[in-house]
Amino acid sequence: MFYVFMFLPPPEDTLMTTTVTQPTPTQAPKKSLQIWLDGKLVDKADAKVSVYDHGLLYGDGVFEGIRVYNGKIFECEGHIERLYASARAIRLEIPISKQEMKAAIEQTFRANGFVDCYIRAVVTRGVGDLGIDPRKSPKPSVFIISDLIAVYPKEFYEKGIAVITASVIRNHPNACSPRVKSLNYLNNILAKIEANDAGVMEAVMLNHEGNVSECTADNLFIVRDGTVLTPTTYDGILEGVTRKVMIGLCKKVGVPCVEKTLQRHDLYVADEFFLTGTGAEVMPVTMIDKRQIGSGQVGPITKKLIDAFRQHIREA
Ligand code: PMP
Repeated sequence: MFYVFMFLPPPEDTLMTTTVTQPTPTQAPKKSLQIWLDGKLVDKADAKVSVYDHGLLYGDGVFEGIRVYNGKIFECEGHIERLYASARAIRLEIPISKQEMKAAIEQTFRANGFVDCYIRAVVTRGVGDLGIDPRKSPKPSVFIISDLIAVYPKEFYEKGIAVITASVIRNHPNACSPRVKSLNYLNNILAKIEANDAGVMEAVMLNHEGNVSECTADNLFIVRDGTVLTPTTYDGILEGVTRKVMIGLCKKVGVPCVEKTLQRHDLYVADEFFLTGTGAEVMPVTMIDKRQIGSGQVGPITKKLIDAFRQHIREA
């Protein structure tokens, strides 16, 4: 669950100081939020898709969640490449080029006066009939939202969060691959409901073999004996853009990082544990399934990597 704040800045204490995404008064949208919808900017109230759109009827579509820091799309190429790769995997032809997509994203956040914000870019199969056949949906729809986001309260970044292991598993790679960022997040939503029921913020999802994949909306990393470990692409994960940045940052700060199949036990005995994602950025985990991680405090390597990430987004 994340909280999206419209126009009004979120309360100061809900944001990390280094990832402040609320606009200053000069950035604040003066008129209705503008949404990019099939080539045009429209008021939020007019940004509507049909109830016959297969994105809604069947979750048939793909999307990206992207950050803009200091007026620049963070890891633009990585996000755009993943969006088009996801679309290709589900045989969905995005009706605009990658360059046009980038220009449309820029047009959207600039039209709203944002300098730091979150972007949601969505491509749906488009309007069809009530059957599932995508051939009946000849015109995919594209829309882009720019808005403010605060995924977790600030103190969680300092103290870490508790997570559980969900009973519901991540998609089998030969179903719709977890590498496709599709509009169908139901497995993840079911796992999130388990987290909600347990009173924790996130759930770790295992894969069809019982190995660790990722959390409902974030990739995961652990630290053991000074080495950072993260599940491989083949363990049923979304190939996170932030994950890739983090692997690069480990190298930069001189901490060994290995992509490796992990079991739940590896999480239980980890010295440190953290999550990465566009929305959450880098979030420490200090408890899993009621087992304390390391000292129960945010560990030194996690702290170092959070600092490196903050510096990276300032310089990017
Ligand atoms: N896994 C899942 C299931 C996600 O939805 C996300 C995006 N929130 C991530 C991982 C993290 O990916 P990224 O760093 O590209 O945001």
